[in-house]
Amino acid sequence: MNPEHLLKYAELQRKGVCGSGFSNRNKINPANDFYSHVNRDWIRSTTLAPSQAYIVQIDEFRLAQDRVYDQLVDLVETASPKAVKTLYQSLKTPISSSAVAAHLQEHARVLDACIAEDNLWKFLAYLNANELTRYACPISWDVLPDEQNSRAFISHLTYPELSLYDYRYYLRDTSFRAKTAKTASIKRTRSRFRRRSATASTIKKEMDYKHVVLHKFVSYVDKIFSATGMARGGGAGSAGSAGTDVLHVERLIIDKLACFNGRYDSKNDDTEYVKFTHAELERHCAGFDWREFATCLGYSPDAAQIPRHVVCSSVGYMKCIVEALTTSEMHGWKSPKWRSYWMYIYARHVIQYHAEWRSIHFEFCCKFLRGQTAPMPQRIFALFGTTLAYDTHFATEYKRRHFNQGVHDYARELAGRIFSAAKDMVRANSWVSDCTRAEALRKIASLRLDLGMPDKMGPDVPPRVSAAFDARDGWANLLAISAWRTRELFIRRYEGAAVFNTPAIDWNQMKFVGSQAYVVNAYYTENTNSIYVPMGYFQTEFVDAAKGVEYNLARIGYTIGHELGHSIHVYGRLFDHAGNMRSWWSRRDSAIYNRKLADVERQYEHAARRDGIVFDAKMTLSEDLADITGLKLCEMVLSAHHAREKTLAPLQMLSFERFYTEFANQNRQKIYRRSIFAQLKSNPHPLDKYRTNVPLSRMPLFNKIYNIKPGDAMHWHSDDTVW
Ligand SMILES: [Zn+2]
Repeated sequence: MNPEHLLKYAELQRKGVCGSGFSNRNKINPANDFYSHVNRDWIRSTTLAPSQAYIVQIDEFRLAQDRVYDQLVDLVETASPKAVKTLYQSLKTPISSSAVAAHLQEHARVLDACIAEDNLWKFLAYLNANELTRYACPISWDVLPDEQNSRAFISHLTYPELSLYDYRYYLRDTSFRAKTAKTASIKRTRSRFRRRSATASTIKKEMDYKHVVLHKFVSYVDKIFSATGMARGGGAGSAGSAGTDVLHVERLIIDKLACFNGRYDSKNDDTEYVKFTHAELERHCAGFDWREFATCLGYSPDAAQIPRHVVCSSVGYMKCIVEALTTSEMHGWKSPKWRSYWMYIYARHVIQYHAEWRSIHFEFCCKFLRGQTAPMPQRIFALFGTTLAYDTHFATEYKRRHFNQGVHDYARELAGRIFSAAKDMVRANSWVSDCTRAEALRKIASLRLDLGMPDKMGPDVPPRVSAAFDARDGWANLLAISAWRTRELFIRRYEGAAVFNTPAIDWNQMKFVGSQAYVVNAYYTENTNSIYVPMGYFQTEFVDAAKGVEYNLARIGYTIGHELGHSIHVYGRLFDHAGNMRSWWSRRDSAIYNRKLADVERQYEHAARRDGIVFDAKMTLSEDLADITGLKLCEMVLSAHHAREKTLAPLQMLSFERFYTEFANQNRQKIYRRSIFAQLKSNPHPLDKYRTNVPLSRMPLFNKIYNIKPGDAMHWHSDDTVW
């Protein structure tokens, strides 16, 4: 900042005329809304290019990812295995109506064959072998790291992800009213939507909205059936439609999610983990035939090759859903209603590869539910399947073109300072007992930092699979890739083996969720007790050595501090230094911790309520605590920096002002009104305004510099940073 500028700024501040544009447009100032004080002009003026209209909210991460998508498209153009290009082109080119019909017929044929054999296990295995439909299968299988033995992968069985992100949409009006007003507890969604106190008018509004959602959902399913010419399972004569069949089945699944086995299922939802043998699974889960299921999936029928153990996330659910599928309820999995569901979970994905029918998906899932204005462009859409098949190729090529050693070294050095600040923070903690403190220190000391790309990468799709790629049928290619991954990777390589880095895609939301190196994000992984910052993150928006310590601390520094925060908070704290799920907290410390969390939760809800936004801050607590710790660690590193440099006190103040401003700036977000609603319910992070203002308000130095007093919106009664 040049001195003249600063003088003018100080003068304006003195007069109470604040805001980054130096004009008195409204009363936003650092004491009532620091985030908007810093970002208001940007939020007002920023817009997206037409090609970016698919982005639901504008922030640095999404904009950088959009640029990385383009870099990946460039890599396709010059890819050396010809199959990469063939695959990409096939996924970019819409498939014909007759190809869609043929796929649906084949799917129905498998269903009929399994029904004829009366083999439910075979059909469930078929659905699970396909990565694109697996998540919607009422019994969803995956091979994942063993939570209690981080050195090995193991089969997991869990409940499905349903079509609508808020489970309360499925409840009948009477229970909706009751569950909105008091405690609601249903599995995965349990922790997310618990304890909402609501007034009669909000309940009325939410109920009205619920009816709109359900109506649109049913009509979305019906459109899929009528466009593709599928007959509904229930047959033309019976009441209702395919949409009502599907809604009926999803409601039944929700119902079963409430089943609870007092002996095995944990009362809180923190740990969904029961390791069973085949015999136990069969005994406690209504005759679940693991041997048959595993064999049909692709495990060798040789008894010695079938995994002896399997992790079950909820014994209660598994028992109830197996009963529902195999016994009389709605006449089980062979019934017409279930048939509609089985066809739907497959068809809703195939249609996304058809030129016109993809709009059925867009209109409901993207536009209506998520507030997206335009569909994701085909050139980006096609990248998902292509990079999944050739992840190692793309990571290596991306590194060859875009890797910058200097930036990585700088980040690693800064991370070292964050790690050491974290140890100081834990040592200085006055409310945990000695044993909890010692374990936390051990955990931070063992924390691994992976920058760039994973060290061990899996194989890409081999030529024997790619040789059969069909240039005009991308869906068929995806099926082949998925079949290969299930058989060769998940079953042969991963089961029982040491942890591998796996690329993965959330096919429901269309985003990268695995170890892909070209993702603009960062992760903390409990099972490996490690932080991973992929190459995609190393852009000048996030790290730029030329821009000084405040800029970088507010970005890469804060990101690493945030991820480190996950290791000692909420969910991460349930795992030990070696990555095993083990409680290292004393009962007394846990109780104090939870009390502190309750105050944090109140503060986020309070801050949002000021803007007329009602949300359940319990679902964002994990991120909130990581944010608070991340910010605190950056402050500590900056203080240590000034102590070392013997910076003059007034300059230190300026440096902190700059840091806080950079922090608010890197968090800037423009979110469209229509997508706020979905974000509040589906994003584990709160809106960035609160991600900025709430952690800041808990920093004593921030309060002092900006003279925050009781009565100011930025004031909170406590400056407790929890750890
Ligand atoms: Zn996080």
